[in-house]
Amino acid sequence: MEKLLLKNGWLIDKSERLVRWKADVLVEDGHIVKIGENIIDDEAEVIDCEGLYVAPGFIDMHVHVYPKVKALGVEADRVGVTTGVTTVCDAGTAGPENLPDFIENVIKKSRTRVFSSMHFSRKGLEITPEADDESKYDFDLAEKVFRENEKYICAIKARASNTTVGALGIKPIREAVEFAHKIGRPLYVHIGRALPYIEEVFDTLQEGDIITHTFHGKESNWMIKDGKPKAEALRARARGVLFDVGHGEASFSFKTAKIVFPQGFLPDTVSTDLHARNIDGPVYSLTLTMDKMMALGISLEDVVEMVTARPAEYFRFSVPIGKLKVGYCGDFTVFELENGEYHYLDSDKNELSGSTKIVPHYAIVGGKVEMKK
Ligand SMILES: [Zn+2]
Repeated sequence: MEKLLLKNGWLIDKSERLVRWKADVLVEDGHIVKIGENIIDDEAEVIDCEGLYVAPGFIDMHVHVYPKVKALGVEADRVGVTTGVTTVCDAGTAGPENLPDFIENVIKKSRTRVFSSMHFSRKGLEITPEADDESKYDFDLAEKVFRENEKYICAIKARASNTTVGALGIKPIREAVEFAHKIGRPLYVHIGRALPYIEEVFDTLQEGDIITHTFHGKESNWMIKDGKPKAEALRARARGVLFDVGHGEASFSFKTAKIVFPQGFLPDTVSTDLHARNIDGPVYSLTLTMDKMMALGISLEDVVEMVTARPAEYFRFSVPIGKLKVGYCGDFTVFELENGEYHYLDSDKNELSGSTKIVPHYAIVGGKVEMKK
């Protein structure tokens, strides 16, 4: 029996009402078996977490980690365990025709847990634009591949912008919503420049679907009108549509966040869209993206929930992750909260300063230490 005991950390998981409780967590054979004060187990390997926070393993629901088919991809462990992130979800780089290869060569070979938001178009992002012609997608094929590989697929991915759907506009997105719901997965949708118009996308999505790049600053197809979130965005949220950050090289603007966050329009989840063109700036990592959210006024407890319990609730993972709870996987991000003066840039080169920084010390996956600072 493999046992790991995390001693004296500040446990943080708002979804389980654990808000900076100083306690211990015991993991046995990959799963959490006990949470409480003064746990003693002579057989367990002990990690001293004094002065550190112990959170469920962070989940980055938007990365591109399939370098073989798309040059923008990066190694999964580079954006995963190396930076304190225990689970990453590839956002549609693979579609039905290359998903089996993605499973063999990325999912099964990474130390980070990797899932796929499988693109509905045949080859994912291997050929772009990927959905401007009906011959580029086939929902019968997508369903067949999904049935054979369900446990690796947490969502279905679509991109709703002029560079992806061309003259077809909203049509492929409507069909993708229908398909995703038929197979029991949420549709995870990128937004950008029109067509389609953002209002059409908001009105097309259903409860449980997720928009990424929500807070971009492209004013020609923006979520804001007259200084307020558009009626379609508010309506979608009321219907149960979810809003993700998906920072990216062109898709997160402090200007947008500073208008809508104070009005209560906060992200449901925080993710990066990390790939080769933004990993060396302005995105860098999930924890730096979380630092930016804190600089914009979101609390540590809330931003941790936005990368743990929330993505685990919205995406369909085949293993129990995202909570500090008995029976859940022994996945943890153990980190220090450093205080100082930090300066950030968004995708549009706007500046922002903040005073707290998350510094990961350990990434633990299934009770195994995969990164130690
Ligand atoms: Zn992306």
